[in-house]
Amino acid sequence: MAEVLVLVDHVDGQVKKVTTELLTAARRIGEPAAVWVGEGVESGKAALAEFGAEKVYVAPAEVNDYVVAPKAELLTKLAQDKGAAAILVSATAENKEIAGRTAVKLGSGVLTDVVDVNAELVTEHSIFGGATVTHARVRTGVPVIAVRPNSVVPEAAAGAAAEEAVSVEISDAAKTAKVVERVVQEKGERPELTEAAIVVSGGRGVGSDDFAVVENLADSLGAAVGASRAVVDSGWYPNQFQVGQTGKTVSPNLYIALGISGAIQHRAGMQTSKNIVAVNKDPEAPIFELADFGVVGDLHTVAPQLTEEINKR
Ligand code: FAD
Repeated sequence: MAEVLVLVDHVDGQVKKVTTELLTAARRIGEPAAVWVGEGVESGKAALAEFGAEKVYVAPAEVNDYVVAPKAELLTKLAQDKGAAAILVSATAENKEIAGRTAVKLGSGVLTDVVDVNAELVTEHSIFGGATVTHARVRTGVPVIAVRPNSVVPEAAAGAAAEEAVSVEISDAAKTAKVVERVVQEKGERPELTEAAIVVSGGRGVGSDDFAVVENLADSLGAAVGASRAVVDSGWYPNQFQVGQTGKTVSPNLYIALGISGAIQHRAGMQTSKNIVAVNKDPEAPIFELADFGVVGDLHTVAPQLTEEINKR
């Protein structure tokens, strides 16, 4: 059975949930082989084995010293050497760039923002605010597929996770952008935005000095906090929490939008959420076209009531 390469997302050896989702999807296609870049493989190997990785290819340390280009060279070489059936990465901004570069090098095609993939390598994409589903397939070469976090339900299945150090000759061209410093963003108690099962996001309707109303509801649900660009541009909440076309893409089981109008650029980052709840005082707000449940009302009344009820349970 041909190998399916899965680029591992991890923080200091802690494998992110999205990688377990990718390994689950990879098992439908072929034999999952994890590709590890950076330190910490010893701590991460158990999680990879639990979700069916038969191999763990460990990249030379140098690959991690530079920005995206060497990772694309590594994936290209591995795909060629191992005769891989496909390459799966999570659909983060960085990985989408790696995916594009890898597909160019392989002379194949890239499919991004995929929400599902089957054994025949047909991918599913949710578009137009979730109203339409399209299917696509790369017709030439090794497909490079960027899958949105939280799109595939992870299922455990034992794999050997046999470690193999791999080498790659990094070209001079790939060494132009070197990593000079890594700054770990303060994590806090809340789950990471792109990994969270529940996201509570606030928009301009929240107001300049009251984001606690969003945070309190998020904390009652064990959720991550998100924000619209209007909020971030106004300096009410930090940039790394922006959801949308120019922010993060999220696909949680539950997305609660408080005081967010539902502009197309915001939808682009959350439209594949499984359940969408909107609270907005304007019954004509476009977010209601997308929402599974809507509350027309003042979020400063509705959200605290909701928080109180949830906290009672
Ligand atoms: P608004 O559109 O102003 O909506 C505020 C909503 O709050 C309104 O619907 C109002 O009825 C409601 N409201 C007000 N008070 C209350 C209350 N007390 N209770 C309940 N409801 C209330 N936007 C993003 O979010 N993410 C992006 O990544 C992004 N990228 C962009 C990229 C480009 C190239 C461009 C041009 C725009 C981008 N935008 C993005 C901006 C986007 O077009 C919208 O301007 C933005 O999403 C609006 O944010 P908002 O919904 O918070 O604010």
